[in-house]
Amino acid sequence: MAYKNYKEVDFTNVTWTGGFWKPKFDQLTEKRIPDMEKALHDKNNAAYIPNFFSQAGIKPDKFYGTFWGDGDCYKFLESLSLTYAVTKDPELDKKLDTYIDAIAKAQDESGYISMFPLMNEGCERKMRYKDRMQHEFYNMGHLLTAACIHYRVTGKENFLEVGKKCGRHLADTFLSRPKSLVHMGWNPSQIMGMVELYRLTGEKVFLDTAEVFVEMRGSAHGGSDLNQFRTELVNETTAEGHAVTGPYLWCGAADVVAENNREDFMEALRKIWDNIHERKYYITGGIGALHRGVSKNVDKVVEAFGREWELPNTTAYNETCANIAGAMFSKRMYNLTGESKYMDDVENVIYNVMLASTDLEGTHYFYSNLLRKQQDKPLLWHDSHERWHTSHCYCCPPSVSRTIGKLGSWGYSVGTKELRVNLYGDSEVEVEVPEIGMVKLSQQSRYPWDGRIKLKIEDCPSEEFAISLRIPGWLNESGQKAKITVNDGETKNDVQAGSYFSSINQWKVGDTIEMDLPMEPVFIEGDTYIEEVIGQLAVKRGPLVYCLEQKDLPNEVEVMSTVISRDSDLTVEWDEKLLGGIMKIKAKGKIYKACERKLYKPFSNMKIDAELTLIPYFTWCNRGSTEMTVWMRSE
Ligand SMILES: [Zn+2]
Repeated sequence: MAYKNYKEVDFTNVTWTGGFWKPKFDQLTEKRIPDMEKALHDKNNAAYIPNFFSQAGIKPDKFYGTFWGDGDCYKFLESLSLTYAVTKDPELDKKLDTYIDAIAKAQDESGYISMFPLMNEGCERKMRYKDRMQHEFYNMGHLLTAACIHYRVTGKENFLEVGKKCGRHLADTFLSRPKSLVHMGWNPSQIMGMVELYRLTGEKVFLDTAEVFVEMRGSAHGGSDLNQFRTELVNETTAEGHAVTGPYLWCGAADVVAENNREDFMEALRKIWDNIHERKYYITGGIGALHRGVSKNVDKVVEAFGREWELPNTTAYNETCANIAGAMFSKRMYNLTGESKYMDDVENVIYNVMLASTDLEGTHYFYSNLLRKQQDKPLLWHDSHERWHTSHCYCCPPSVSRTIGKLGSWGYSVGTKELRVNLYGDSEVEVEVPEIGMVKLSQQSRYPWDGRIKLKIEDCPSEEFAISLRIPGWLNESGQKAKITVNDGETKNDVQAGSYFSSINQWKVGDTIEMDLPMEPVFIEGDTYIEEVIGQLAVKRGPLVYCLEQKDLPNEVEVMSTVISRDSDLTVEWDEKLLGGIMKIKAKGKIYKACERKLYKPFSNMKIDAELTLIPYFTWCNRGSTEMTVWMRSE
């Protein structure tokens, strides 16, 4: 069976022209990336880019940062390439060349490249592939991906040459499945990187090695669920262990499926994805409930998926990289199957937990993404009262930036005689539709603030082809229906949510499709098996999850001293001045009288009526350290 149904549009073919995402893309080029570059030159930061210049002999110095800092520098270079694709700023091109030159000089003759072992003179050979915490696969994997993207953007081979040399080293070392290295690796980014390298070069050894990496994981006794080493992928049915290394493995396996149709991989991936989304998934799109705990096989795990239905709020782990990796996994499952549920997840992640991980200024980040913050409750190790600028683990900022950089390409996809619109927002796409030719389409929408979307054909061949629109699954939450009108013709009112609507036509320039997605706010409850949300409600409007922040309560009342009324109207109001311009929601509720902090006390029913103002979850903690909750007590 072939699993290669939909191909994402290249990031060079899509432009955000306005609406919600253009300012975020502009912020990426103007602020986020320059600011990140500063952080990468800070010796106290976990990722330190001058290490490459030091190892290259250009500016010798000691090693600074963490073992996995290289990988985060490569993700930064990937982000830089993605912005260059749009801006074509020659200064960026020059900057990239300077970094690439140092990386090429820092690389070992063998193709091996990981700065900490290389910079430990004398013992480097002894350290290679001896300790999975060295994160060599993470480092090299992100190098491969960044090198491929750089080539696709610039056409230059300098970074790609480094990547090919590294890929051949990995193939030379691992293709034979050496028994001594069967438990090697922490974060398997290299699998995605090797498939990408195969796609660009056509050298099959890269694909074969990627397949071996997937097969090796969990193939020998003695492995733990911590990094998916206990069970082979083909025998796995649930999401266990580390919530970044797992999705990275599954992304890599999905990439292998796209090239060689491994049905056994695909079957396992479907089961794992369903297990996450039916049992281990936060309403905000976050994954990985545990900072520390045990897996179903009682292996010790960290930063990991919890047990089924175990979804705590104040101690949620939900690492930024894990959530984005979850969206990357979904995106690949969408490409393989064309099923809209996978794109629904991508949308949920990007509008909620991904954007919440960074401030509105684009310079500070959360590592873990809680659903409730109570001010004096002790934080766990990775949590912070406010977002940070530099960190002991700098993986998240470049994960956010490279995702925003390529989001346009996730917005559209193509299949045979079909152009699909996956994400909504002001944009233009010009793309080759298989068996049809070049099609140019423009889109206008204020989504996610407004559900009206207008598509217009700007150019296309005369043959008949399909334009398909994702009808978001969130419509089912309010029971509302999408309305679609093609060329001012009859309006269709009964379009099924959670699917793609296709219109097949001999399209011509100026033709339009208009869609209206009603965005009535709606209360959401969790299943009674989720102990942590019993008796509570959350509020959503369209794709956005809302929250209650202490800043919007009178007299610094604690968020958990409030209740929201289940029968309250939820009224929507655009507030231009609040948090950069948001649609806020007002609801009726009550505030309990403050009482002493004590484990247990007699129940006091003293409360007053209150109007609660809810803001989109992604905008929380932009007015200083504060309390917040997504799930609100209700009555
Ligand atoms: Zn991270």
